[in-house]
Amino acid sequence: AEWTALDEAAEAGELPGGGEPPQPTLAVVGRPNVGKSTLVNRILGRREAVVQDTPGVTRDRVAYDALWNGRRFTVLDTGGWEPDARGLQASVAAQAELAMSTADAILLVVDATVGATTTDEAVAKVLRRSKRPVLLAANKVDDERLTADVASLWSLGLGEPIPVSALHGRGSGDLLDTILGALPETPREVLGATGGPRRIALVGKPNVGKSSLLNRLTGEERSVVDSVAGTTVDPVDSLVELDEETWRFVDTAGLRKRVHTASGTEYYASLRTKAAIEAAEVAIVLVDASEPLSEQDLRVITMVVDAGRALVLAYNKWDLVDEDRRYQLAKEIDRELVRVRWAERVNVSARTGRAVAKLAPALRTALTSWDQRVPTGQLNAWLNDLVAATPPPVRGGKQPKVLFATQAQTRPPTFVLFTTGFLEAGYRRFLERRLRETFGFTGTPVRISVRVRE
Ligand code: GDP
Ligand code: GDP
Repeated sequence: AEWTALDEAAEAGELPGGGEPPQPTLAVVGRPNVGKSTLVNRILGRREAVVQDTPGVTRDRVAYDALWNGRRFTVLDTGGWEPDARGLQASVAAQAELAMSTADAILLVVDATVGATTTDEAVAKVLRRSKRPVLLAANKVDDERLTADVASLWSLGLGEPIPVSALHGRGSGDLLDTILGALPETPREVLGATGGPRRIALVGKPNVGKSSLLNRLTGEERSVVDSVAGTTVDPVDSLVELDEETWRFVDTAGLRKRVHTASGTEYYASLRTKAAIEAAEVAIVLVDASEPLSEQDLRVITMVVDAGRALVLAYNKWDLVDEDRRYQLAKEIDRELVRVRWAERVNVSARTGRAVAKLAPALRTALTSWDQRVPTGQLNAWLNDLVAATPPPVRGGKQPKVLFATQAQTRPPTFVLFTTGFLEAGYRRFLERRLRETFGFTGTPVRISVRVRE
């Protein structure tokens, strides 16, 4: 029932856990003291970001939700996670790299009263490689007299410098208009989420019923085209309509030809399975419900998780499952499938057609999770509360601080956590568990990496 609600939300264009449509992100980068935080406050129109007069002082919160002219976006104040050990230039360049890999547009702030420093030049050089729009703010232009200094900033090679006084607000409206013009409507991860039928790998050890299930699916539901030509000799994929949607089952040639039992093919079959998983977005791993779960089943599941693909577990041959077997199955699942507790299970029978109609909704749920992005502002609000309530365990007398997190990628959802110290595996698992409780992610692996700010 929980997932029906999520499906409805997804169909209404609201991502699960999100509630709001995903919003694009602007990263604000620049040397300490150029006025990044003051400018972020100005952009937010409120005194939320804490301005520190001491350079390099770490602020706790760095992601904020902003609204201008009716459009929402997230602002990342990279001043909040200034790493300071490796030297200024390296650390500001690292901020710029991170901004390029996570934000939809970047605002480089320089101090017009100082002019372009070598650090500014180094950062500009990094940013000129950016595939995302980069804007240049010439800050501290409190009055007309600084016009010439602003013009000299053209030398950074980032286009026209936009004069602004973060402190007094001068020019901030124009800057915000330019920012909105540079930001895409939808965040980068969401772009390209659609286009063409979604790709499914139907995998599992020999004899679990893959061919039978494919035949059932193409027979019962209308098969749009029997196959998609890779070459005329060996058509590779099958297009199948399930629940009023067309899906592409990848690399089904072997399944249709029933060549799977030839001798010495286990290695070959495993390569083929791997290739199919790589080519797909979501995998249906078929297991034989009438037999104990085997090593080989677990290997296929691991391949899907390691490849970062969405997963649906299908227990086939359910027509052979009796009361006793059902009891054993529940124990097996508890014992051996803890790692993929997040995957939806569907009990089907390719022979009788039982529950095969449940596959399409399960695939959709898994793909929605795979595509899901938690806006940075929302993620950090959640994280701050969580870490405040349950801080990471003290190690070597030190309490690691979790500074900030961002979902750097979707497909699969990948989170990067910035901390001041090592986080134990147990705490990372705790974070993943709570992340899933709050934001869902049913059917997809989730990756969490930790970057320690030395
Ligand atoms: P950050 O380290 O880049 O985040 O810089 P801050 O926002 O903490 O600002 C550094 C200092 O510059 C503070 O003392 C601010 O008050 C000052 N400042 C920021 N913006 C302006 C501005 O537009 N004009 C002037 N005159 N001072 C500013
Ligand atoms: P594949 O090797 O994974 O493609 O498996 P097949 O589709 O060739 O099926 C292997 C055997 O299991 C065949 O004898 C099928 O008839 C049988 N089989 C497949 N699905 C079911 C099912 O749902 N119930 C039962 N009882 N047998 C099935």
